[in-house]
Amino acid sequence: MLTHLECTRCGEHYPADRPQSVCPKDAGVLYARYDLASIKRTFASGRLALRAPTMWRYDAILPEANPVSLGEGFTPMLPSREFPNVYIKDEGLNPTGSFKARGLSACVTMARHFGLKKLAIPSAGNAAGALAAYAATAGLEAHIFMPKDVPTANRVECDYYGANVTLVDGLISDCAKKVAELKESDSWKKDGWFDVSTTKEPYRVEGKKTMGYEVAEQLGWRMPQGIIYPTGGGVGLLGMWKAFEEMEALGWIGSEKLGPERPKMISVQSAGCAPIVKAWEEGKQSSEMWSNAATLASGLRVPKPYADYLILDILNKSKGTAVSATDEEILEATRHWAKVEGIFAAPEGAACLVAYRKLRAKGFFKPEDTVVLFNTGSGLKYLDVLDTASVERTLLSAKPAAPAKPATRQIAGIIGPY
Ligand SMILES: [Zn+2]
Repeated sequence: MLTHLECTRCGEHYPADRPQSVCPKDAGVLYARYDLASIKRTFASGRLALRAPTMWRYDAILPEANPVSLGEGFTPMLPSREFPNVYIKDEGLNPTGSFKARGLSACVTMARHFGLKKLAIPSAGNAAGALAAYAATAGLEAHIFMPKDVPTANRVECDYYGANVTLVDGLISDCAKKVAELKESDSWKKDGWFDVSTTKEPYRVEGKKTMGYEVAEQLGWRMPQGIIYPTGGGVGLLGMWKAFEEMEALGWIGSEKLGPERPKMISVQSAGCAPIVKAWEEGKQSSEMWSNAATLASGLRVPKPYADYLILDILNKSKGTAVSATDEEILEATRHWAKVEGIFAAPEGAACLVAYRKLRAKGFFKPEDTVVLFNTGSGLKYLDVLDTASVERTLLSAKPAAPAKPATRQIAGIIGPY
């Protein structure tokens, strides 16, 4: 039912029967488009109940290819013990311990389908681990470029999965430059290389969009009033918004005319790297490269998301907003969620709690609003970051005369600026 790819900038159509990257005309992100009218006639949402509890239960609205799957998706939607009407979508239970499993499962599925051999990825950490695992499953080569100070778990898992790892002295943007250099080499075309960077290939969004289908299905095909989403590259935000449009066309959720059926989409970023928050506050349509990006939430160290124009458009259309959280706030929230909810979250995920509290305090959300907070990964992948940070905090609190630290202080220097 996949009919073509469509540029999100100029609307040009491209064939979906071969590997595609971005729009050759304007470098816009390409979206997979389906014959939704035919799917509507042949597949009703009621049939989903009998399906396996993975993201491939939605294969009616995914590309037709033999899935490279490790059981990703259909993660728990946990009611908060602290806030009625708040749910925590726990993506830490995915294979490789993060939401990146969804996008890379779909992406590697299509790479194998197209006969690609060597997959290159610049990553802030968790996407690297996910690519390494799915490439191993599919028998493809994974070539990973990630900052040298990623959490230890990301380095070790890539090594065990047999990936080729290059540690880069810099940020994900510097890793992307390394992949761009590689693209200029003679072997790139000859040896079947492919760049699977966030939003530079069309199928990671397709995997991530299943989060939107799950939110709807797990809430009984009702939309929440808000979704708070930690935004690095922003693929999940793009994917969920795309899912809502598709579900509306499929008649699975109501249309705009029938009532408020779209959640407010909220981006949360770290105060140490908040290009989307800055652009949102300045009313801009794209972001500027954030200099000196530094935060313990390594997944949020994306100085300029490639799809910034789409992220900002979604915040605007959904009447959402963008919120930042300091590393101190994120650390406190990580500990709070573990103690109160029993969820040992990734720092990026715990940032959602910081954002929710701020938005409740401002009256943006009311207590009766249903809001879904995305915990994008497991805290177990950040043991070195969280452990050292807590040690540092203990040391600080032992010095009663110490003045309050500024919000931009780097914690333990684990993840510093370049
Ligand atoms: Zn275009």
